[in-house]
Amino acid sequence: MVIKLYNKKSKQELIKNLNSEQFKRITCSFYNYIPIKSPQVLRDIIYSTFESLKIFGRIYIASEGINAQISVPDYFWDEFIEKLKKINDIGDIPIKKAVNEGASFYKLVVKVKKEIVAYGLSKELYDMNKVGKHLKPQEFNKAIDEKNTIVIDMRNFYESEVGRFKDAEIPLVEKSKELLPEVRKMLNGRENKQVLLYCTGGIRCEKASSYLIKSGISNVKQLEGGIIQYAHDIKKKGIKSKFVGKNFVFDARLGERITDDVIAKCHLCGEPTDNHHDCNYDACHILFIQCADCSIKLHGCCSEECKENSLKTIEEQKIMRKNPKNIIKKRYFRSPKN
Ligand SMILES: [Zn+2]
Ligand SMILES: [Zn+2]
Repeated sequence: MVIKLYNKKSKQELIKNLNSEQFKRITCSFYNYIPIKSPQVLRDIIYSTFESLKIFGRIYIASEGINAQISVPDYFWDEFIEKLKKINDIGDIPIKKAVNEGASFYKLVVKVKKEIVAYGLSKELYDMNKVGKHLKPQEFNKAIDEKNTIVIDMRNFYESEVGRFKDAEIPLVEKSKELLPEVRKMLNGRENKQVLLYCTGGIRCEKASSYLIKSGISNVKQLEGGIIQYAHDIKKKGIKSKFVGKNFVFDARLGERITDDVIAKCHLCGEPTDNHHDCNYDACHILFIQCADCSIKLHGCCSEECKENSLKTIEEQKIMRKNPKNIIKKRYFRSPKN
């Protein structure tokens, strides 16, 4: 028997299958920085284990650790926890459930990567044995109000645009690889302040804090479990959220609402809205923020041009795409107004 270790169905077929499921799924995430001797071997173990449990999602494995965002059928949840514990290489990992449910993933992808967070950092620039002190949500809230404190959002711009901690400093970079040098630059002359970092689930701050400490920032702290854990805790304990808006997530939901504040604007007309969309025109697929009115007007596309192109027949679209000039490179779309 040939063991199938990759998935071969079309996207439409996969989404159709997901929508016809008669059970619920639990969206969750976990990560661990832990030396992994043979990422490829672990990759195949994870793929076959998760596939047997009908798990969907995205898992990255590197020699420095593992990072996973997945959705697990609810009736397999206990078995999933049991089986995960038995996979030796990955250690004891806390699992974070999503804040809001909803269809998140429709297939299983397990990849071997160079780093589990793609900062493009060479090994001598950080030391995972020295990371920023972990603060629980309540401790983080208290620290924000202390004197000589800087709060930095360690995510990409499109994430902080729809939700962030009040008064957080936002690095204006487009690529993950530019993020850490930019944050270091922002801290020039402020090396002795208390620096508080946060990200979605905590994984990016682990490495970022390690880099900042090695680069001479003395007092670096990080939000334990990230915005996801923070949202759970403030809800459970009835604490007022210092995070406003939405937590951007990298699955089909594109965001989890944390508070009712809408802090972003439609990239086309400037109306308050915080819904991210992928442009409906297949050759564009740019990520951008769009209000309901503009979405109706442009058929969910980012521009008149994409709308017109999307109305062409599949054959016409194929011919257009043969011309490299008509392929729009993936980038984040921002209007000059924002
Ligand atoms: Zn609009
Ligand atoms: Zn477009």
